Amino acid sequence: MTLTTNYIAGEWVSGGAETRDINPSNTGDVVGQFAMAGEADTVRAIEAARAAFPAWSRSGIQERHDILKRIGEGILARKDELGRLLAREEGKTLAEGIGETVRAAQIFLFFSGEVLRVAGEKIPSVRPNVDVEITREPLGVIGLITPWNFPIAIPAWKIAPALAYGNCVVFKPAELVPATAHALSQVIIEAKLPAGVFNLVIGKGSVVGETMIKHPGVAAISFTGSVATGRRVAANSVGATPMKKVQLEMGGKNPMVVLDDADLAVAVECAVNGAFFSTGQRCTASSRLIVTSGIHDKFVAAMTERMKGLVIDDALKAGTQIGPVVDQSQLNQNLSYIKIGQEEGAKLAYGGELLNRETPGFYMAPALFTEVGPNMRVAREEIFGPVATIQRVKDYDEALSSANDTEFGLSAGICTTSLKYASHFKRNAEAGMVMVNLPTAGVDYHVPFGGRKGSSYGPREQGRYAAEFYTTVKTSYTLPV
Ligand code: ADP
Repeated sequence: MTLTTNYIAGEWVSGGAETRDINPSNTGDVVGQFAMAGEADTVRAIEAARAAFPAWSRSGIQERHDILKRIGEGILARKDELGRLLAREEGKTLAEGIGETVRAAQIFLFFSGEVLRVAGEKIPSVRPNVDVEITREPLGVIGLITPWNFPIAIPAWKIAPALAYGNCVVFKPAELVPATAHALSQVIIEAKLPAGVFNLVIGKGSVVGETMIKHPGVAAISFTGSVATGRRVAANSVGATPMKKVQLEMGGKNPMVVLDDADLAVAVECAVNGAFFSTGQRCTASSRLIVTSGIHDKFVAAMTERMKGLVIDDALKAGTQIGPVVDQSQLNQNLSYIKIGQEEGAKLAYGGELLNRETPGFYMAPALFTEVGPNMRVAREEIFGPVATIQRVKDYDEALSSANDTEFGLSAGICTTSLKYASHFKRNAEAGMVMVNLPTAGVDYHVPFGGRKGSSYGPREQGRYAAEFYTTVKTSYTLPV
């Protein structure tokens, strides 16, 4: 098997170690063998990015627009191939893999337009004859650290704005998904970026990630991953000299409220999609269903009926609705939470068991817990798998306070036909994103993404708001003499 390499300083190069990339739908299928970069490779990538920055940051907006557009179009032209590779490597279904690939293309195309719209302000000074100008400038080299669950969309929504606003990039994908990262990088490189502007460094977080965070040549870090790692990334970024700008997207324990007046069919679809699609491996997953007592029993019956019909199988098989869990350790974590929930006294209403399929893979039946108390671990801790809990509440007020009773605050949903409750929930949910009669997962690409409390830190990602992180503001004063 040929070794797939990293891209540093305009060249494909191997690293000191190697990693094997396994298909979670069929553990006998090796997706590829990848070079793992070490500290020295990472430092070379940072130095190459620094060397490329002066010219790239002053490149014309037409050039950057054209490059980003070529990347977007390049991804679209290869969407089936990239989507298939993503599904094979990560385990989401082929339709989800292609959908995510198209999303990555849309993000590059969106930011190709944003390149042309970077504006400043010229305003009068409080001092006579003085002009004040406020402009945005790129930061420098940005280290991008991404997770495995959206192997192309999350890198796209960090790489595209970073490049659009004139920064250089060192991209460190998650260890579990090097193939998609590599394929995306190929498309980026084919768009003819100057050497050093974009670097791919596959490797361990503790090596590549920490080297980027500590290196004085990196100006900012954008991270998506777990809360524990995010805290470490933030502490190290602020502890570095000079202190780095940092943006974190972390976990969620997203509530989906179902009120008595909800359209039952809509509520069940929102819950099933939000909790279990993409194998529940989304930080916006609807993992906490909070249901008022008048509809509770009907909702549980309809949910379990719907879950019986879900097709869990090989991600690449036609008809599969839910693929496998990403790897053995995530599967072990999910199964341990099934045990924890039962020990805590929750009722396992459906699923939660291992499944056997034609090929050896990490298959489990989506699980639904009922009779869940607000202080149970299964209701408070992010599981990151196809496991949902149902809390029964007496009315809207209790539903809202339960929804907000969490250390997280990424997305919150409500299913209701009442304008009054929908409006109140939109105003009072302590979350960065609120969904009415829609799953908590599934967002647009041209508007801000991010949360509150323990879910996010720093400026929002995506849409025009991405400029807050990927640029720095300069205020200039001029006295014409
Ligand atoms: P998950 O549990 O979903 O894999 P992690 O937070 O462990 O989430 O990983 C998210 C990303 O952070 C990955 O690219 C991983 O390699 C990286 N990472 C892990 N540890 C560190 C670290 N100490 N410093 C920087 N990045 C890290």
